[in-house]
Amino acid sequence: MMGPTHALSGAVAWLAAVPLIQDAGLLQGYAVQLSAGQIAAGTVVCAGAAMLPDVDHHDGTIANTFGIFSRGLCKVVSKVSGGHRQATHSILFALGAGYGADWLATHHERIWWVLLFLLVGLGLRGLGVGTGSSDAFTGVLNALAAAGLVYWMHDVDMTWAGYAVALGCVVHVAGDCCTPRGCPVLWPAPWRLGVPLIPRTNGRAEKWVITPLLTLGAVILAVRTAMGDEITSWLESKA
Ligand SMILES: [Zn+2]
Repeated sequence: MMGPTHALSGAVAWLAAVPLIQDAGLLQGYAVQLSAGQIAAGTVVCAGAAMLPDVDHHDGTIANTFGIFSRGLCKVVSKVSGGHRQATHSILFALGAGYGADWLATHHERIWWVLLFLLVGLGLRGLGVGTGSSDAFTGVLNALAAAGLVYWMHDVDMTWAGYAVALGCVVHVAGDCCTPRGCPVLWPAPWRLGVPLIPRTNGRAEKWVITPLLTLGAVILAVRTAMGDEITSWLESKA
């Protein structure tokens, strides 16, 4: 799947998961109450994290987002993880990334803010911010927008960050599992899970069905989240 599809699916998954994170059912010890700022910030972070597993692709969106640095990083990760769609496309990677994000956000704030800047930059790039014709212009626009958003988040409590990052990675893996090549979901076990619902990356199904549906889902969920209480009380007043 393409970067924008992954980023959109991350945003949709976060907005859909917010009620579950706030009311964790039997796992009440893990429930986190989220403010409006945390929900909005989580949407961008989860969108960025939903691009993260492709850090193993030498010519993917991540490799091309931060120039020579990201290209070098992606090459190294690809070598270490066994190539594209190997170790980084697994549940273990998602849990590790989520745990790592939580640990940095709660113990090493400065490193976390750098990582947050990169994640937000990725999320924005995936969602289409800064996709101009000139690469340098794209990079500058993306960095400025990411810096602005990270500054806006500077007083947002980040106890939710691990959830957003882990969820983003899981959604990416789930998306890639819908293609014939699939993913080694239970890595280091070698089996691959692949259901060929999307026959070709950036093919007609992805462009004309999946992306519009995800966009519609993101809009509906964003409106529901933003106006949740008002909509509920309005419906109750009509009942
Ligand atoms: Zn992938």
